[in-house]
Amino acid sequence: MTDISNNIRAIKNQIHELEKRYHRDPDSVLLLAASKTQSIEKIQEAISVGQTHFGENYLQEALEKITAFATKNLTWHFIGPIQSNKTKKIAEHFSWVQTVADEKIAQRLNDQRPDHLPPLNICLQVNVSGEQTKSGIYPEGLLPLAEFCSSLPRLRLRGLMALPEPKLSIEEQRIQLRKLLLLFNELNTRGFRLDTLSMGMSDDLEAAIAEGSTLVRIGTALFGARI
Ligand SMILES: *Cc1c(COP(=O)(O)O)cnc(C)c1O
Repeated sequence: MTDISNNIRAIKNQIHELEKRYHRDPDSVLLLAASKTQSIEKIQEAISVGQTHFGENYLQEALEKITAFATKNLTWHFIGPIQSNKTKKIAEHFSWVQTVADEKIAQRLNDQRPDHLPPLNICLQVNVSGEQTKSGIYPEGLLPLAEFCSSLPRLRLRGLMALPEPKLSIEEQRIQLRKLLLLFNELNTRGFRLDTLSMGMSDDLEAAIAEGSTLVRIGTALFGARI
């Protein structure tokens, strides 16, 4: 067994244990492999043990990987910051974009999504930590952005995503992640049919599952430290 296949098995076990511990439905948390900077060979190893969802942050690097694995049935999520001049390729090559945080980017992704593909799945990235340097829409702006995105026919608004502040205790992580859960519930109460709460990375996996995450984005714990 390679490290990566062992790591994937260990993380899946951990997810199952946490689902039980926090009274979550079995298999309600999807594992996304955050594969930025990782080699084609490492991704191949993950695929060989059944991993199908991958998240990438840098467009050029991602396109090479998507091309290399074009014959596999993989689902690619864009999880990095989006510049306007990158939206066309993102709309053409990804199934999901998790980092939508303003109307202009949403409109461009909608307009550039090719007709032969299904609508692009999106999550809105929310700034729940209040850090000035973090990308993401502030909670106050979320409802109008969600309404705008729902009106775009080539996008499908699936949920919310957040990156909490690093190096918090589990209790502090849970406080920040709970903000995202409450916003998610509030939008669903208003009639949005969101099914994806994307939160949880290598260092806040437990807090995220405790607070209702349905999709965890794991890099380091799966592939080892990034070089
Ligand atoms: C890199 C990255 C991750 C994975 O982080 P790890 O701490 O390595 O698990 C998750 N989400 C986003 C948006 C990332 O950029």
